[in-house]
Amino acid sequence: MSHAYSFTEQVNRQFDRAAVFTPHDAGLLEQIKRCNAVYRVAFPVRRDDGSVEVIEAWRAEHSQHKLPTKGGIRYSLGVNEDEVMALAALMSYKCAVVDVPFGGSKGGIRINRAHYSDGELERITRRYTFELIRKNFIGPGVDVPAPDFGSGEREMAWIADTYQAITAGELNALACVTGKPVGQGGIRGRREATGRGVYFGIREACRFGDDMRARGLSTGLGGKRVIVQGLGNVGFHAAKFLVEGGAVLVGIAEYEGGIYAPDGLDLDAVVAHRAENGSILDYPGAENITPSIRTLEMDCDILVPAALENQITAENAGRIQAKIIGEGANGPVTADADTILLDKNVLIIPDTYLNAGGVTVSYFEWLKNLSHVRFGRMEKRFEEGAYRKLLHAVENVTAHHFSEDEVSVFTRGAAEEDLVNSGLEETMVGSYNQIREAQVRHGCDLRTAAYVTAINKIVAAYGSLGLFP
Ligand code: NAD
Repeated sequence: MSHAYSFTEQVNRQFDRAAVFTPHDAGLLEQIKRCNAVYRVAFPVRRDDGSVEVIEAWRAEHSQHKLPTKGGIRYSLGVNEDEVMALAALMSYKCAVVDVPFGGSKGGIRINRAHYSDGELERITRRYTFELIRKNFIGPGVDVPAPDFGSGEREMAWIADTYQAITAGELNALACVTGKPVGQGGIRGRREATGRGVYFGIREACRFGDDMRARGLSTGLGGKRVIVQGLGNVGFHAAKFLVEGGAVLVGIAEYEGGIYAPDGLDLDAVVAHRAENGSILDYPGAENITPSIRTLEMDCDILVPAALENQITAENAGRIQAKIIGEGANGPVTADADTILLDKNVLIIPDTYLNAGGVTVSYFEWLKNLSHVRFGRMEKRFEEGAYRKLLHAVENVTAHHFSEDEVSVFTRGAAEEDLVNSGLEETMVGSYNQIREAQVRHGCDLRTAAYVTAINKIVAAYGSLGLFP
């Protein structure tokens, strides 16, 4: 009889699979694996009808080998202590994989956000922030939340505002949370960052001819058929950038059901259809798939689960037809399903790497808040002047005259968003090559390789703390 593993157990099993490829002391590995601190809180919130409701919430700090710790806040009825701890652990490994100098944490508020008014959500968010402040579970150098499933820029703005109000005069207060609106200390490109990172990661994976040939695929993203589960922040942007990069979106799964069209779906038209009808179902020219989860089993080259954990399990893994799975969500493939898919030679690009674009750009936002200056502000004009001089020199030597349009294109200095996207691309491409190299060296799968890379980097950080010489 198979044992139903909790999410934390799943993450720890994956950790153990990787630990055998490292030379480290068992006690040290145990310390890395353990969740260092969990804060569970219950607090009352006044509903709009005057009644009082008790809200349950958590914040888990998995590892403080680097500070602050970093991780999103999830608003979902599925939130529980085990889930928050597992997601916090994934954050530690993820930050290590992409060289973001943070430990891992995660928060969760157990509510179905659809059942609350905006005012109620604001009261819940502000009270949760207050509880975190009281226990020192938030702060620019302590623990820095971000958006996750069910939360976004608006919630992050409430958190920043509450923190600023209570810590009046703290110069770096805005760096207490990332994923804020641009007008309130956010950074351009953060909203799209996770999905854009998913695109960069999949594009890089498709660049390796050997890996593609081994799955009967051609090199490059062009023409590859993609199915995306979850049309939220991560899923929508991943789909958008994959299509812009030449892939064909053939299927979308949302909680109400899925749609599938082998010739391709128009993403923006599907979003408009959903806004109008309250559902993606009955989209013209597409086949309805119910239940939604069966959409993941339809014919495609790349499957991007970008909704929640435990979507591909031992039960449905055998029916997955995709040759590549890009984990946009955290933990969408269970450890048992992982084994089945690897036996089928599916290339799984793991969450600990692939959805790290969000935390990478959150890191840039945190740096921006600490430096109190927008990226590009100091150098943009200077760069433009330098490029202009260079173009004049080229004109003088070649006697070629550039048009005004050409001059403005060639001499454009980098603005904040250009720098953010370039830093993100560099991170995602560089990290993919690191984990692929570890995969080849150890003869293992990419997920194990990502964990090996993370474990080695965290051990190095412990060493530099003098804890484990
Ligand atoms: P989101 O709330 O913006 O979107 C989630 C989407 O999934 C929603 O559209 C929702 O309707 C849909 N959904 C819910 N249940 C579903 C089901 N059973 N089948 C199909 N669709 C379903 O959340 P998000 O921020 O996009 O997060 C999605 C996943 O990505 C989570 O696992 C999260 O932890 C992970 N993630 C998010 C970020 C980020 O920056 N937001 C970063 C890294 C990882």
